[in-house]
Amino acid sequence: DAPAAGKVCNRFDLGKETELRFEVEAGEAAEQVELELVTGLAEVFGSELNRNKKYVFGAGSKIAVFTWQGCTVNLYGKPEVAYVSVETPMLLYLNTHAALEQMRRQAERENERGPRVMVVGPADVGKSTVCRMLLNYAVRMGRRPTLVELDVGQSGVSVPGTVSALCIERPADVEEGFSVQAPLVYHFGSTTPGTNIKLYNKLTSTLAEVFSQRCEVDVVLVLDHERLYNELKRDLPHFVRVVLLPKSGGVVERSKECRRDTRDEKIREYFYGFRGVTFYPFSYEVRFSDVRIYKIGAPSIPDSCLPLGMSQDDTQLKLVPVTPGRDLTYHVLSVSSAEDGEEGVRKGIVESPVCGFIVVTHVDTQTQILKVLSPAPRPLPRHTLLIMDIRFMDMK
Ligand code: ATP
Repeated sequence: DAPAAGKVCNRFDLGKETELRFEVEAGEAAEQVELELVTGLAEVFGSELNRNKKYVFGAGSKIAVFTWQGCTVNLYGKPEVAYVSVETPMLLYLNTHAALEQMRRQAERENERGPRVMVVGPADVGKSTVCRMLLNYAVRMGRRPTLVELDVGQSGVSVPGTVSALCIERPADVEEGFSVQAPLVYHFGSTTPGTNIKLYNKLTSTLAEVFSQRCEVDVVLVLDHERLYNELKRDLPHFVRVVLLPKSGGVVERSKECRRDTRDEKIREYFYGFRGVTFYPFSYEVRFSDVRIYKIGAPSIPDSCLPLGMSQDDTQLKLVPVTPGRDLTYHVLSVSSAEDGEEGVRKGIVESPVCGFIVVTHVDTQTQILKVLSPAPRPLPRHTLLIMDIRFMDMK
């Protein structure tokens, strides 16, 4: 851990309950920024910093170093912005944690399950960050919370186009976030719930069932959206506590391009690894006849054209066989964990978790062969594949 050679060093003395916010420039040429806690105590989104350790943040990182007691930190390199804020909603977030911890204690006394919390709000208000903090605080108290990720656009757990659940056993790594070992992942297929709301609801209930047979949310945290807060208070049953929380001024708005890049990066990480960990994916050929590819949801047709007794809802969950053609190239495919079999098992495919993802890199309709990028060597563990709208062009 030698001091970052030749890098500019800026020292910040932070008073209690303040935070240092900094952003690392985006883009490939961006210089990494290193953070070091010199004195006192500080945390990044609920994960405690070790003293005299250099934490490295890459292109596009947006970080807040918060201190309850006061501290001194060094920043090495040239962040795009770096400033200290004394106005943060952290105390409110900590109080939220304290209230949840009280509910957990009570649940423990009564031999009941702990509270369920849903975090909602518009884009860029810090929903994922608040989840990370609440999970970190809970796990630091010895709890074992579960993160259920319902954001199909910017999932923190798996590749985009999925919903998932992850048991949290230790605080998030300051640089890399939560360790994502063995998450439970379901295929959704696109980056906004609106493309197939019926499927989205189905997957949400499937996840809920896996955890407890029924999903009763006890607390809803609404970040920075007063109207949504009032509507939820009006519409949800009385036992649900709806709490309005302000967003942090530090949350940075992300452009469409930035979101697309983040999604791309997430897929790249899946195949090639992240930071210190490098994966070497495999590329191999698969015969058309060895796989069955489906898209979930048929295009909607006017009600008047639906077969008798069928509703639009049925079409949204329908498995539509996909004939491989050139347009399949670059599409991400989920490998369903559903047992390979005939018609009888097809029904379970939508509700089955996925065991991994592949990308189609080439389609040869003459020889009827697909070339795929896969995290594991051939053969495919299963032969039922679900196509996503999401594409990934491998530039390596
Ligand atoms: P989305 O609409 O994409 O779901 P979100 O509401 O979940 O977004 P986050 O992903 O939590 O928002 O936050 C957006 C960005 O702002 C992240 O890069 C996060 O690291 C950063 N961020 C959050 N809080 C702060 C803060 N207090 N200071 C600096 N950066 C922050």
